[in-house]
Amino acid sequence: MITSPAFSGKRYAVLGLARSGLAAAEALLASGADVVAWDRQDVARSRLDGRARLADPLEIDLTGFDGIVVSPGVPLNTHPISERAAQFGVPVIGDIELFALARADLPPHKVIGITGTNGKSTTTALIDHICRTAGLPAQMGGNIGIPILAQNPLPDGGVYVLELSSYQIDLTRSLACEAAALLNITPDHLDRYDGFEAYAFSKGRLFTMQRSGQFAVFGCRDDATRAVCSVEQARRAGGRAICIDRETIVGKQDRWPALQGPHNLENAAAALALVEEIGVDRAVAEAALESFRGLPHRMEVVAAHRGVLFINDSKATNQASTAPALAAFPPEADGPRIHWIVGGLPKEDGLGECEAQLGNVAIAYTIGEAGPRFAELLEDRVRVVKAELLCEAVRRAVENGRPGDIILLSPACASFDQFRDFEKRGEHFREIVAMLTGTPPPMVPRMEGRSAA
Ligand code: ADP
Repeated sequence: MITSPAFSGKRYAVLGLARSGLAAAEALLASGADVVAWDRQDVARSRLDGRARLADPLEIDLTGFDGIVVSPGVPLNTHPISERAAQFGVPVIGDIELFALARADLPPHKVIGITGTNGKSTTTALIDHICRTAGLPAQMGGNIGIPILAQNPLPDGGVYVLELSSYQIDLTRSLACEAAALLNITPDHLDRYDGFEAYAFSKGRLFTMQRSGQFAVFGCRDDATRAVCSVEQARRAGGRAICIDRETIVGKQDRWPALQGPHNLENAAAALALVEEIGVDRAVAEAALESFRGLPHRMEVVAAHRGVLFINDSKATNQASTAPALAAFPPEADGPRIHWIVGGLPKEDGLGECEAQLGNVAIAYTIGEAGPRFAELLEDRVRVVKAELLCEAVRRAVENGRPGDIILLSPACASFDQFRDFEKRGEHFREIVAMLTGTPPPMVPRMEGRSAA
């Protein structure tokens, strides 16, 4: 656990006692802080019974509190806690801010922060892998894996690699990352923001928190990311804010099995720039790209059967993240090869960036609530099978697939119409594929506790 004398004798309220909230409460208590904790579920509250005062911060006098720690799942734009905190002049923060405040008392270390609409987890896990391969003590946290405050402090020279959603950045005030990246900004999670600009501004704050000599790298493929890059270039001395450089790695990608597709070229370029900044040798870093195993549900190869490749990209919950998956498999001489399983709970109307990739699609299999709408949009463009259910889609795709084809679950939609979350959807896909092909599902690690954004 990460603790700090900075919290000793301070007063904090912690709202929401799931994973990161509970870790924050535990770290604060172990640091000698006075903690008021609350969760609407009594099972969650009971974990702190007898150790913290259990009371709802919406109902108590918050005078003199040093902060209210809320979970990134709490929508600050609508939840009454924002107004309540403002009445008492108490900052609303998250576990990443507590980590930032604890940094001064940790052994000397570096922090790499990664944000963006898509590609955060992949890039975070990749950087963690490169650092470990290079022999550096490394730990990933934030929107991935175990809450950062629940992890043990790294020894001298360690690297904390933090995946940061915009919700987490909104709850952070003083995290100055030695190196940080913004991969891209495309419309997503707009229910939590007052429009696209506010969402983009939220991501940009990761860089305004950095000191001017610190390093920042930007995807620069969309206008919003380029705009943040320009602001940062103006603010820093030369070379400390750059666009990613794909050129030096183009042509090497076929050596990286878990990093296929144009989007992963960008993720790899960002990762290389960030690790170079903290002193990792370029050759060592490039070699690590070859041994990276990838993350479940992101372009995960789940089976190869009779020359057909089955890919689980269940994490692609918007058009911008599905488009590069479609782009990764161009047609061969006998035509397009992708059997695209698409649909679920829609986040946006239209085909978005997927439209430009339809030439790669042999047949689209529509599923879920958005199925009929996708069928309507796609019917004149590609062959469409209205499957409704994932199992039916896979079954029909297996019937139609020829050697060299790809059966790709990359739904461009959220999963909640038919599944608990994108992980369950991906697991269901793996199981169906295993059943229909007679191949055992691959062993994969679980990734828990993520929010989004
Ligand atoms: P995040 O953590 O930001 O949600 P992930 O690494 O989990 O990102 O990837 C989410 C989805 O986005 C996957 O379907 C993946 O194939 C796709 N993706 C990954 N990197 C990028 C990128 N740089 N640009 C667009 N899409 C991407």
